[in-house]
Amino acid sequence: MATASAKPEAGFSFVSGVVGIGFSLPDASVISGHSGYTAADAGRDSLVQGLNLLAGIFCGLLGLVFGSFLNVCIARLPRHESVVTPRSSCPDCGAPIGAMDNVPLLSFLVLRGRCRDCGAQISWRYPAIEVATAALWVLCWLEFGLSVEAAGMAVLCFLLLGLAAMDAETLLLPNTFTLPGILLGVIYSGAMCPGRWLGRLRCAGVSLGWAVCATALILAIRWLYWLVRQREGMGMGDAKLLAMIAAWAGPANALLVFFLAVVGAAIYGVFWMAMNKGEGRAQARMPLGSFLCAAAIYAVFEGQATVDWYLGLFR
Ligand SMILES: [Zn+2]
Repeated sequence: MATASAKPEAGFSFVSGVVGIGFSLPDASVISGHSGYTAADAGRDSLVQGLNLLAGIFCGLLGLVFGSFLNVCIARLPRHESVVTPRSSCPDCGAPIGAMDNVPLLSFLVLRGRCRDCGAQISWRYPAIEVATAALWVLCWLEFGLSVEAAGMAVLCFLLLGLAAMDAETLLLPNTFTLPGILLGVIYSGAMCPGRWLGRLRCAGVSLGWAVCATALILAIRWLYWLVRQREGMGMGDAKLLAMIAAWAGPANALLVFFLAVVGAAIYGVFWMAMNKGEGRAQARMPLGSFLCAAAIYAVFEGQATVDWYLGLFR
């Protein structure tokens, strides 16, 4: 998502990472530092490969655990409940969920998606969010290697996935995710900036400026929509979400995300209208935030390439 020049040289590119996982290391000659390839180099390379594979597995397992915590956030934050207390319980019978039944993914499989006490069905959202978080974190590792950028993008994916699910379920984008998300994006932009303290501070300031611009863009569209239709189109949550995306990813990626999300929501809306011909369809609200989040997750991995491709059309 950051500019191409900021990408670390060592590590895996996405394609070679997927193909080469556990079999070959693309940068073997870079790591060994000379062209004469000895047995010692081969031994070191297989050690590096083994450690790399372990790191990937660790990213996946950590993703499952954080995905499990994300499920708690998704269920509780829109209702302004604490994510720490009380302990998780079955929403149907209220029985507390024991530690052995709270293992990410495994417990869902062992219990076959049902509560141990009352047999009520557990939402498929729980395993889906856990698997999606794990998959995105492994993708971050494959795309960015073990780096500050990978850690930052993993945090961003965590926030986006949670906001996408909350908007889809409740049409709410809680401030508890968007506002710290903006702050983290400003800090990340400063941290990723080459140079010394003053340069980093300037980068962080620029990132905050783009967040303000993104908010202004949504507020302007909201106002225009209100003038034409006399009702609210985009919510304030959408404004804060796009501000968060702009703080992390800069203006070009934020515009790409906004464009993709509006196109995606429009296509979804046409299908939805065709399926629902009854009353009240004019009042139906669209989870635009979910589309913004999905487009932003795409931009984390392919945003720069897409922007470069688009700008290349005019050269
Ligand atoms: Zn139950």
